[in-house]
Amino acid sequence: MWAQRSMAMPVPPTETALERRLRPALAEREAQHLYRRRRLTQGPQGAELVVDGEPCLGFCSNDYLGLANHPQVIEALVNGAQQYGVGSGAAHLVLGHSHAHHALEEELAEFVQRPRALLFSTGYMANLGTVTALCGRGDLVLEDRLNHASLLDAGLQSGARMRRYAHGDVEALERLLEGQASGERLVLSDGVFSMDGDLAPVAQLARLAEREQATLMVDDAHGFGVLGAEGRGTLEHLGLDAEQVPILMCTLGKGVGTFGAFVAGSEALIETLIQRARPYIYTTAMPPALAEATRASLRLLRTEGWRRQHVQKLVQRFRAGAASLGLPLMDSQTPIQPLLLGSSAAALQVSEALRARAILVSAIRPPTVPEGTARLRITLSADHNEQQVERLLEALDEIQRAQPHLFAQGEAHVAV
Ligand code: PMP
Repeated sequence: MWAQRSMAMPVPPTETALERRLRPALAEREAQHLYRRRRLTQGPQGAELVVDGEPCLGFCSNDYLGLANHPQVIEALVNGAQQYGVGSGAAHLVLGHSHAHHALEEELAEFVQRPRALLFSTGYMANLGTVTALCGRGDLVLEDRLNHASLLDAGLQSGARMRRYAHGDVEALERLLEGQASGERLVLSDGVFSMDGDLAPVAQLARLAEREQATLMVDDAHGFGVLGAEGRGTLEHLGLDAEQVPILMCTLGKGVGTFGAFVAGSEALIETLIQRARPYIYTTAMPPALAEATRASLRLLRTEGWRRQHVQKLVQRFRAGAASLGLPLMDSQTPIQPLLLGSSAAALQVSEALRARAILVSAIRPPTVPEGTARLRITLSADHNEQQVERLLEALDEIQRAQPHLFAQGEAHVAV
């Protein structure tokens, strides 16, 4: 069954001093409805899942285009393993940089219309590696307050002075940039915000960065593959080029449906990262077979535009249905469609009520999102059909009718 364990952890018969120190903080987390638990999935990604042994309909995957389990992607992985084996054997700078990695980098660079692209093992490492390679003591890193944790951690670890501006507030950024003329000045923003689904004002950020001679880097983890007529992401959607946004980071584990990430930009940028980005230099290259799988996925993403159109249609269907039910929708036109519930307890209760109806949606709570803005993070995928979206709306309607107070706190936030 899906019953949650009430205790954070069972107390072992012999407890070490370390365990005695850790346990109160875990218990407190549990009491605050902030305790995190992993769900056990069986089988591949898709709309219909088996989670903790029970079949359910999932609305919390980032596999927005439904490519994670595509037969051609699986076949490319298998063929890649036949050709290259499994392990890459070493870091890229030692002996780990295979033809498969190199071909993927060239195809990604061509796709995003930039001179070069560099693969990283994860998006977290790509952000960390890029920011720490470019900035250090004496430099300034400026970040949207709602940027992904990996960008925020990257700014903190760089040793540069770091300032955060209010979400999407270009004027606040302008004030921070004024009078800070010396050193490298790097402006960092998600393209699509991961927990809100809204777009950054990238055109305005680019204009300001150019005027102030600062450098703009966009993390398009949630836009790549999904936005733009060709799937090039937020920048294509907004009509922006490599001059306006010189540093682009995209992940491969979401819309692309595989794993890893890349940074794309100029020759000088990529060569600098190869020389200096520690999470690039000091880690084993991703398996070459995975690069082959990503090449197959990239081909599908480019040729099967219907996936983007279908998921966009589902987004519109969900928003129209949720609006007519008076649900606390947020301002998002992307496949990330959060419902703002306010308290962590309310978010957990609605998530559990959905689970009782065999629907899986994650409750997102602080510190992932700011205090008082806990939410259900609903994500839609090209794997879903309209009937499944209807099923989700019906379940939300039922829960709201039975427990309207759970939805009431979020409305105040939505209104402002
Ligand atoms: N940036 C953003 C905006 C993300 O949402 C994520 C993943 N949650 C990452 C970076 C990190 O990517 P990865 O999962 O490949 O480490």
